[in-house]
Amino acid sequence: MMNAALAAVGLSGRYHLLPTPAEALAARLAEVRAEFAGVNVTVPHKRRIVPLLDELDPVAAAIGAANTIVNREGRLVGHNTDADGFYWALEREGLCSGEALVLGAGGAARAVVHALVTRGWLVGVYNRTLARAQSLVEEVGGWLVVPQKLEKAVRRTPLLVNATSVGLDDPQASPLPPGVLPDSGGVVDLVYRPLETRLLREARAAGLATQDGLAMLLGQGVRAFELWTGRPAPVAVMERALREGGS
Ligand code: NAP
Repeated sequence: MMNAALAAVGLSGRYHLLPTPAEALAARLAEVRAEFAGVNVTVPHKRRIVPLLDELDPVAAAIGAANTIVNREGRLVGHNTDADGFYWALEREGLCSGEALVLGAGGAARAVVHALVTRGWLVGVYNRTLARAQSLVEEVGGWLVVPQKLEKAVRRTPLLVNATSVGLDDPQASPLPPGVLPDSGGVVDLVYRPLETRLLREARAAGLATQDGLAMLLGQGVRAFELWTGRPAPVAVMERALREGGS
């Protein structure tokens, strides 16, 4: 997606993988400071990178995680484009209802909840480990949905967002109890491997609107590209590259 975008706007840079174990993060950042315009940071480093950066933008600071770093003349500035990227995709696909239930309390859920509550949405948060959901609600916003209230909350919500990793690499796993889906509205799954998760399959069969994980992946990439290059992102080119299998 990024290499297709760079080529499309006539920039000669390249985007490539820098596999980095946790103990090598600081050394990697020194390399980034000297040689790169910017990098993305992904699982499991989005939170642990924060104290190693020179500066954080307000969104990354509020979420407590960064996925995009911009090298501003040797100062490494952390951004979180997952939040804006998620909302960009939601607006693009016409799924803005003002109310949502978010499943999960990891880095992706924190970005999603931040994106929604800062835009005035009412957001319920449910997570397998209650204490993590509690911290998310206290630090980012929304309200806690306890296990006994999950089924009712799912049925009533106009927008359900799966921000857990359930379904990742397992097309048969669902984050919801069997037979439980929203009565109407939409379902977003952030999982993008596979694209067709069980949750989305069942939601579509029930007549609900659906959005797959590539929509947010595209959105966060568009924002990151614009931060690094200062140019409008070639969205159609990036989307085509993503849907054709590269990222
Ligand atoms: P994370 O920080 O590791 O959080 C994982 C979340 O999934 C936690 O809430 C965890 O609950 C929950 N979970 C894991 N296994 C579970 C199970 N068997 N049953 C119930 N809950 C379970 O991961 P993350 O960075 O937030 O990513 C979450 C998902 O979003 C991943 O699939 C990732 O690929 C996807 N993602 C997509 C995009 C995109 O652009 N589309 C961007 C970011 C992330 P506990 O707290 O109880 O462990």
